[in-house]
Amino acid sequence: MEGFEIYDPRFKALLQPGSRLTRLATGATWSEGPVYFHEDDSLIWSDIPGNRLLRYSQKEGLSEYLKPAHFQNGHYRDLQGRLIACSHGERAVVRLEPGGTWTTLADSYRGQRLNSPNDVVVKSDGTIWFSDPPYGLIQPNEGYGGSQEQAGCYVYRLEPETGKLDAVITDMDKPNGLAFSPDERILYVSDTAGSHDPKGNHHIRAYDVLEGRTTANGRTFVVIEPGLPDGFRVDVHGYVFTSSQDSVQVYDPAGVRLGKILVPEKIGNLTFGGPHKNRLYIAATTSIYALELNTQGVQRP
Ligand code: MG
Repeated sequence: MEGFEIYDPRFKALLQPGSRLTRLATGATWSEGPVYFHEDDSLIWSDIPGNRLLRYSQKEGLSEYLKPAHFQNGHYRDLQGRLIACSHGERAVVRLEPGGTWTTLADSYRGQRLNSPNDVVVKSDGTIWFSDPPYGLIQPNEGYGGSQEQAGCYVYRLEPETGKLDAVITDMDKPNGLAFSPDERILYVSDTAGSHDPKGNHHIRAYDVLEGRTTANGRTFVVIEPGLPDGFRVDVHGYVFTSSQDSVQVYDPAGVRLGKILVPEKIGNLTFGGPHKNRLYIAATTSIYALELNTQGVQRP
């Protein structure tokens, strides 16, 4: 089939007979943080250098949703459906309330400002897990600048009710995308240190999640080439759909590469959506692409 590289029959089974990548919208500079709203079949995502959020719906097409947006990056929705955002500019994780105001959920750890929260996932217990590399500080067009106060780049677990913030992963260089396995017993986190260092990491690590709140036994899950694994998602089979330079690459839980969905622009992130949760939305540089699949994402709601 054109537009795909198939290494395993399990990948072919994910495709529909007419599966074809479609470009839904374009005009962004660097697209990230796609998040789906089933209520009106719409997608919101970040154009980080444009300092804005964009929205696309089948009915209404493309529009600007928020500007300025404090250079928001990754998004997710909490158990109540509220939008959770990683804000480079505010160096915080923030939440959009139903009335339209933003609440800061976390902006410091042990008395020091966070670096620039990048990507986020909400666990089934309502806790918010996010990565904190320095891209919003070191890339002048992706934040307000400033100096790094944290000793490293960590992955955090936040209890939004109490504000309790714990660093749950401290042994990565530049943690970036993250997602849980369907049973939430494994947390996958990408490391994109290769973005600013030719010898830097470009892999996804896997960690066991202990008692739903800490991590252990970190190991390399897959090394991604070409390019870097930025954002990624997991489907109901536990397959990992990750961004890379040339494609969305699909891996089984053992790290076997099943196939590639070729995309004509470099990919920042992706998410599942659509009324049946089987539509893959791909945020790739200037554009949003979509592909109908024979599988569903595990993210809620
Ligand atoms: Mg990212």
